[in-house]
Amino acid sequence: MSLKEYSKKRNFNSTAEPEGEIKKSTSELIFVVQKHAASHLHYDFRLEMDGVLKSWAIPKGPSMNPADKRLAIMVEDHPYSYKDFEGTIPEGNYGAGNVVVWDNGTYTLADYKNAGDLETKLKSDLQKGHLSFNLNGKKLKGEFALVKLKTKQENTWLLIKSKDQYAIDEDVLQQDKSVLSDMTLEDLENMSKKNDVIL
Ligand code: MN
Repeated sequence: MSLKEYSKKRNFNSTAEPEGEIKKSTSELIFVVQKHAASHLHYDFRLEMDGVLKSWAIPKGPSMNPADKRLAIMVEDHPYSYKDFEGTIPEGNYGAGNVVVWDNGTYTLADYKNAGDLETKLKSDLQKGHLSFNLNGKKLKGEFALVKLKTKQENTWLLIKSKDQYAIDEDVLQQDKSVLSDMTLEDLENMSKKNDVIL
């Protein structure tokens, strides 16, 4: 695991995103979904693994409906502390635009009972291109799978909700507020406009 690519893309003198470091492992693993109005609106889906956040950009966002298969592009690992990042990435920086923490919580592997070799299991599932996990978030709940597509492009996956008692065919993206601040991307946008006027 390495944050090299993450650090290379960013200038920490001009973005408030965390510089971050690799976290020591604990038994509880976290996930976070950030809604990000970059040049194209997308949702960044991140799972803690081996002290960093494994990350996928999902253009259409996650769904609680098992009939939806959402394209998820694997991107560079992000530091663990990125889980709390919300705010504006200034113009001229990588991923410039507003970010809210759309959902967060903990996750467990769906088919895994013993905590002992969790990291090993996670890594081999990642390698195999099939991760099955249970999310315990505020919006996303129950079992999901991330499945790697066998295409020429190395980094294309699908995020699919499994059929369980949490599956619904309502659009969970309608709940558009941050789970940290209660703000929407539009609230952030208005705030940054106001700040421009003051400056
Ligand atoms: Mn993003």
